[in-house]
Amino acid sequence: MSATTEIPRPDLEAVPSGLLIGGEWVASEFAETVPVEDPATGETIAEIADATTGDALRALDAAAAAQPAWERTAPRERGEILRRAFEAVRERRERFAALISLEMGKPYREALGEVDYGNEFLRWYAEEAVRIGGDYRIAPDGATRLLVRRAAVGPCLLITPWNFPLAMATRKIAPAFAAGCTAIVKPAKQTPLTTLALAQVLLDAGAPPGVLGVLTSSSASRVTAPLIADGRIRKLSFTGSTEIGRLLIAACGEQVVRASMELGGNAPFLVFADADLDAAVEGAMVAKMRNMGEACTAANRFLVARPVADAFAERLARRMGALRLGPGLDPASDVGPLIDAPACARIAGLVDAAVGAGASLRAGGRALDGPGHFFEPTVLAGVDPASDLFRDEIFGPVAPIAAFDSDEEAIAMANDTEYGLVAYAYTRDLQRALRVADGLQTGMVGINRGLVSNAAAPFGGVKHSGLGREGGREGIEDYLDLKYLAIDA
Ligand code: NAP
Repeated sequence: MSATTEIPRPDLEAVPSGLLIGGEWVASEFAETVPVEDPATGETIAEIADATTGDALRALDAAAAAQPAWERTAPRERGEILRRAFEAVRERRERFAALISLEMGKPYREALGEVDYGNEFLRWYAEEAVRIGGDYRIAPDGATRLLVRRAAVGPCLLITPWNFPLAMATRKIAPAFAAGCTAIVKPAKQTPLTTLALAQVLLDAGAPPGVLGVLTSSSASRVTAPLIADGRIRKLSFTGSTEIGRLLIAACGEQVVRASMELGGNAPFLVFADADLDAAVEGAMVAKMRNMGEACTAANRFLVARPVADAFAERLARRMGALRLGPGLDPASDVGPLIDAPACARIAGLVDAAVGAGASLRAGGRALDGPGHFFEPTVLAGVDPASDLFRDEIFGPVAPIAAFDSDEEAIAMANDTEYGLVAYAYTRDLQRALRVADGLQTGMVGINRGLVSNAAAPFGGVKHSGLGREGGREGIEDYLDLKYLAIDA
């Protein structure tokens, strides 16, 4: 591993460390703090405020107080705030990327990609804010005019994961603001700094006091459970694991709070015998290795037509084996550290079990000694589809491969999971591509592409991968309530 650091370390002094409540950065009630770690070294890089239940309720008071004026604010003005924030993030592109690399571990090049992708939500919803609209209808009997208006649902709670700290925050805050909702964000405890820096940008862009709150905490449930139970939060948007998502759906049920859920994935990556194999390997590298495999959209199972399965495994193993591991802030790094030590240990266990059950190891296979939480890019061929490696969300740089003998078998194997976020298919036959896409039980399909994320598209899954969509025209809908006026004609 190289230790060169040509990329400047981010200026952590410039990142707020407090809680954002009522437009002010404040210490937590008992002035407690929680450490943030650099996953490449295990060192503490910052101490941030550790919110209590009392802090959370104060943030909610501020959000609820700000809600009426915010939803009456002209849509253009709300859009302009988002647009100014977009320009500011673009100006600070490198600084945001370095911050993401430092706290989350992804290589700087990829972090730049996240900044561009995540920032696009601010621009997209700056434009959508002025296109909310409504509807005018005439009742079938002709006696009544029906006016349908769409208005902000009210204060929202937005809970984000650690793997895309900027993009997951903007994907929620931007449509909430565009719709006229106030928002309280609870970032993941491993990667709060990017959200804190983003919140400062939104304040500087003109977000009024109380419209945005940020709560960082060593205990997620201590701050989120009382907010959901309070009754004033009208919508929860959560991105994270299916396990926590289920708990939150139940909590929202108690208060009849709307819940949008972007949960786990177990994406199949299908390679048909007629595929351009070089393109498929290229796409596989993107679908597997983006974010070290720590992505809900990561290809989790490679299903390859038997005649080309061995050639695919060999080429993929060559590419994976050539990747350089190192800290995200080292420009020579292709693959950064995993988020923490338990992640490394869990993935090592999955790989060992698959090898023990007869899979053939073609590249990598083990965690590196510390410091940092590095796992070698790994390829396994001949994996049993019933193994945990195929069933669980791997969330790491491991590519398990199994062969199929027919299109029907490929689709059945792809659908043999409780998840349904995304699938990828490589084939040169357009009809086959459409037939396969029709048969796949997922919210998204990449055809001859290893990347589907796009701010203009409705991102989301079916089955246990979630409820609702983020991005595109559809992404604002969950933040709007319908009210219809029946007018005597
Ligand atoms: P996680 O453990 O579910 O945590 C996600 C967020 O929920 C964090 O902010 C976490 O806070 C918070 N949280 C944890 N327990 C909670 C509780 N009892 N009540 C309320 N909030 C709670 O997931 P993760 O490990 O951070 O993220 C990885 C998962 O996210 C994977 O399953 C991945 O597939 C999924 N993901 C899905 C998408 C998508 O769009 N579908 C995108 C990205 C990631 P703390 O950090 O403080 O624990």
